[in-house]
Amino acid sequence: GLLRDGEVRPTIFAHMSALAAAHGAMNLGQGFPDTDPPEVVAESAVAAIREGANQYPPGAGVPVLREAIAAHQERFYGLRWDATSEVLVTAGATEALAASLLALVRPGDEVLTLAPFYDAYAAVIALAGGVHRTVPIRRENVADDGGDGADGQDGADGARARLRVDPDELRAAITDRTRVVLVNSPHNPTGMVLDARTLQVIVDAAAEHDAFVLTDEVYEHLVFEGEHVPVASLPGARERTISVGSAGKTLSVTGWKIGWVTAPAPILEAVTGVKQWLTYASGTPFQGAVARGLAMADEDFAAIAEDLRERRDLLVAALDRIGLSLVVAESGYFVLADLAPLGAHDAAQLCDRLPEKAGVAAIPVSAFLPEGEAGQWRSWARLAFCKDRATLEEAGRRLAAWA
Ligand code: PMP
Ligand code: GLN
Repeated sequence: GLLRDGEVRPTIFAHMSALAAAHGAMNLGQGFPDTDPPEVVAESAVAAIREGANQYPPGAGVPVLREAIAAHQERFYGLRWDATSEVLVTAGATEALAASLLALVRPGDEVLTLAPFYDAYAAVIALAGGVHRTVPIRRENVADDGGDGADGQDGADGARARLRVDPDELRAAITDRTRVVLVNSPHNPTGMVLDARTLQVIVDAAAEHDAFVLTDEVYEHLVFEGEHVPVASLPGARERTISVGSAGKTLSVTGWKIGWVTAPAPILEAVTGVKQWLTYASGTPFQGAVARGLAMADEDFAAIAEDLRERRDLLVAALDRIGLSLVVAESGYFVLADLAPLGAHDAAQLCDRLPEKAGVAAIPVSAFLPEGEAGQWRSWARLAFCKDRATLEEAGRRLAAWA
């Protein structure tokens, strides 16, 4: 074929969104919000278009955005980046990840991720000719929620599951063959927030084996429990860490595709070298608007997370009433649910029928695992709560009626 095996399948997100549209289903599949960006951000993009910001921006991004990215990282994390040589604007985090992996990975090099993992990682590692290794995120059931859960309502609440990454397994998986450890915290699809100790294990092992750490932190501001620790802020990390961010999730502008990379100048130069041949540059009027968004007050960022946390709780309450076992996200957009009580031996098969049968779309967790390795996640699905309240309530009603 034109491309190597496995690289041209439609993404699970395109597939499920098409099914949701075809059946008028509540789309809890693809992770995009159906709410508007902050008013100042939207207005700023409209004004930029009216004011003529419609041609190519500089390849590395408009200076005002590069400076806003640097200022944002200093304000929230005390990290200092030179806006000219250490900050690169990209077409979303997707391009940031692709340019970084294509710059760093030579054919046969190993790239380590946790599993499950965001599906683009496997595709881009393959495009770069790398070998994808994984360390499992382990799921263990904790006490039954007891039928009168946090939702304050009686019901058939299912069990809660907790997730764990074994530091010894991580350490053992990072070897001299490892070129890049690709970290994702806050994590998609599990919503796990990795703690500083686990991240330090990664940084120390990467240093020992002279590997890079590529860290995808697109959910940095959407944390409900625990605290986001940027990898680059850890002792010994900065010199080998490439950090990736995005405006999509924080500002509810996933369609604008504005992301960024921060890294020490020599590494950033290599990433920029690839990026210029992918898109060269993109999104001129959106870049200034994102700069405006990154300069919002601390309380505005906190309010975004709080609003999302309430919607998480709304979906959790609805799924509790059906009695499903859940991984309740500490962060991000998604709750994981065991669909076994709904007759799912294989969630991939059930999710294909769910939009038509139940009027709800979800993504099987197997989509975030290597082909044929669903393992302990076989009957589990990911449901997005970054949707308006009416959509979440209707999805809950439909699932309950169908269950
Ligand atoms: N990384 C993760 C973990 C994501 O969940 C997503 C999209 N939801 C991306 C990267 C891609 O971000 P962008 O839309 O900015 O390309
Ligand atoms: N990142 C989003 C998700 O996890 C989807 C992005 C996409 O559609 N490529 O659902």
